[in-house]
Amino acid sequence: MLTASHVRGRLAPSPTGHLHLGNAWAFLLCWLAVRKADGTVILRMEDIDPDRSKTEFATDIITDLHWLGLDWDEGPDCGGDNAPYTQSEKLDRYAEVIAQLSERGLTYPCYCTRKELRSLASAPHKGEFGPAYPGTCLHLSASRKAELEAAGRRPSLRLHADSPDLSFHDRLCGDQHQTWEECGGDFPLRRSDGVISYQLAVAVDDIDQNVTLVMRGDDILHCTPRQVYLYKLLNARRPDYAHVPLVLDAEGERLAKRHKHFELRALREMGISAKAIIGYLGYRAGLLPEPKLAQAQELLTHFSLEKLPKQAIQLENDIEEILKKLSEKENKL
Ligand code: GLU
Ligand code: ZN
Repeated sequence: MLTASHVRGRLAPSPTGHLHLGNAWAFLLCWLAVRKADGTVILRMEDIDPDRSKTEFATDIITDLHWLGLDWDEGPDCGGDNAPYTQSEKLDRYAEVIAQLSERGLTYPCYCTRKELRSLASAPHKGEFGPAYPGTCLHLSASRKAELEAAGRRPSLRLHADSPDLSFHDRLCGDQHQTWEECGGDFPLRRSDGVISYQLAVAVDDIDQNVTLVMRGDDILHCTPRQVYLYKLLNARRPDYAHVPLVLDAEGERLAKRHKHFELRALREMGISAKAIIGYLGYRAGLLPEPKLAQAQELLTHFSLEKLPKQAIQLENDIEEILKKLSEKENKL
């Protein structure tokens, strides 16, 4: 039975690479928060960008999550009432929402090229997204549009808004207030090559899948106001947000695709066990007094949002050694 307070949270990997320790950290924390609340865990494959997504990665991600000991109740592999759970299977649905927004007069085609947009670097508002889009194409005449089309320009489709209220509360980062300009201004719902934007796909999916808790890395915090606005436009109740601090390498760089040696499969090949990784991350999350072998399930009793660190966590220089030593204990058990 779904009650008003039933928590539904999602793990939303992009199959553009293999999972690394940073992904494991964010997914573990989200999983713990949802399971602690006796909620429903959803796995969603965010393969909206066809240039970067690969089905092999999607398969490997599922393998790695299972290996870590995280489970889910709805997902691409097991189905559920809110399928599909793979974005590339929802293109019609996204198109339908974009059509609705367009019928309401909220969108407009933008013919600006990347180069033109880059040259806006001197625009006044410089947020995470760079300069705000100045609305160049907001009032193009029909004849100008026809001219640009004739010249072979394919437009993206932007969402227009006039200083909407984007404020929201984050359960870990506190109250957030950003202006539309700070968030980059009118943003594309669809790229000029037809690819649906991440913002639109995520908001639609969270609505369709009745997601009540969005817990993810705080590198996405700056995207949230746009998603909050889409929720509002689509008349949906917004989820609770909790953006978790990131994992940094020993040099202070945030983990990225190039950190191949921090991929779960690389660690596994080194003989490192899932329990060592979970126990280490549980320790860094403030849930265990020291790193020890643990299963995700065992961290549940200790879990609370209040315990989580407020700042990014930095991996030790010899993190592989730490994890290996821990793993060796398992073999001796
Ligand atoms: N797919 C996104 C990522 O892997 C996460 C999006 C989200 O959680 O909303 O970075
Ligand atoms: Zn434009």
